[in-house]
Amino acid sequence: MAQEFQRQSHRSELEMPPPMAFPDTGLPEQEVLDGIRSRMATDPYEIEQNFGISYVGPPHAISERAAELAKGTIFVEWAREMFPGPYQLEKEAVRMMAAHFGAPEGVGFITSGGTESNMSALRLARDRAAKSRPEVVMPETAHFSFRLGAEVLGIRLREVPVDRDCRPDMKAVRRSINRNTIALVCSAPEGNLGILDPIGEFSDIAVETGLYLHVDGAFGGFILPFMRDLGRAVPDFDFRLPGVTSIMTDGHKLGMLPVATSFLIVRDAEIIRAIPTDRTHIHTLTSTKPGERAAVAWAVLRHLGRDGYREIYRCALEITALVATGIEAIPGLRLLTEPYITLVNFTSHELDVPSIYLELRQRGWGTTLGVFQGTPHIRLSIHPNRDEPHARQFLAALEESVAAVRARD
Ligand SMILES: *Cc1c(COP(=O)(O)O)cnc(C)c1O
Repeated sequence: MAQEFQRQSHRSELEMPPPMAFPDTGLPEQEVLDGIRSRMATDPYEIEQNFGISYVGPPHAISERAAELAKGTIFVEWAREMFPGPYQLEKEAVRMMAAHFGAPEGVGFITSGGTESNMSALRLARDRAAKSRPEVVMPETAHFSFRLGAEVLGIRLREVPVDRDCRPDMKAVRRSINRNTIALVCSAPEGNLGILDPIGEFSDIAVETGLYLHVDGAFGGFILPFMRDLGRAVPDFDFRLPGVTSIMTDGHKLGMLPVATSFLIVRDAEIIRAIPTDRTHIHTLTSTKPGERAAVAWAVLRHLGRDGYREIYRCALEITALVATGIEAIPGLRLLTEPYITLVNFTSHELDVPSIYLELRQRGWGTTLGVFQGTPHIRLSIHPNRDEPHARQFLAALEESVAAVRARD
């Protein structure tokens, strides 16, 4: 079991099948499709029972029909004259998201995911500042894509510690700023516990210092404004704060869009002039993308509208609350934090948490095992298409898992 736990936490090891010849002759279609089926069958969880990965869940139903209409097309900056349709759909979707974030004049891109959005924002900040030894300041809880971006772009990261409530040390943020600093990064919310950084304070510092501020709204970008509509207290986190230069969100987290769809939105067109596209032709980090992706993003935003999204998130938050309450009712378990968005984290002071994770896994339920400041915990991400029976099934499996661990101790 210890080995299993270790494997779970060493995800970066490259696993490869034995060497395989490039096929000399083709196989009949049926045999090829069976080959795919047999490999897909090795996935341990039904999609509906995977609470571990945030974006496991079908995108909105209109996606398939929208994709059909754009089949085989592409969108790419340097060849937009060749396929103006998908390019226009991309840019209209971007404008809708910019308006959602409070900057109707905002410009931007559909990227391949949160990682590309974050890395593209770092590149923009670097090119804009044009300093010889660029540094970025961010809370240590920021997503690992910033570490990847810093490595690739030759940026030094200064990671600021967070306290037991996940709150970054804002004095340390200020102390970490020096003449090499090109940008500040914060999250709305960070993707582990789902806690918002004090974005207003980051914005104040950005205004004072003139630094670029990028907000990672991979998880929160879609849902947060609707939570406000639903009567929750949600502080400003987007362009409504004057210091925010860019914000990104993942359509494939809570946006009801397929993998890989993310939006990088920049406050205004003037800012992105810093990128030397005369040489690189591209503002982001990938080039040609399927036109289907732009069509689907446009279609889902246009089809759901604010009303549709609000209703979806009302349900998702209800299910989240149901799961959280259910967990609290199981003796031996406790919530690590009160859920803010659709992330639920729990731990135990008496039972072995990795064992609970494995028991759930054996029962076909996927969760994520994490450690926050020395406390092991289980993280659940409640996708908008989970319903009440489904949440109850999970809670029943969790209760059984806890009983099984207790019986062993
Ligand atoms: C998921 C996530 C990302 C990265 O997104 P990918 O789409 O997986 O590249 C970045 N930031 C946060 C906070 C996330 O939760």
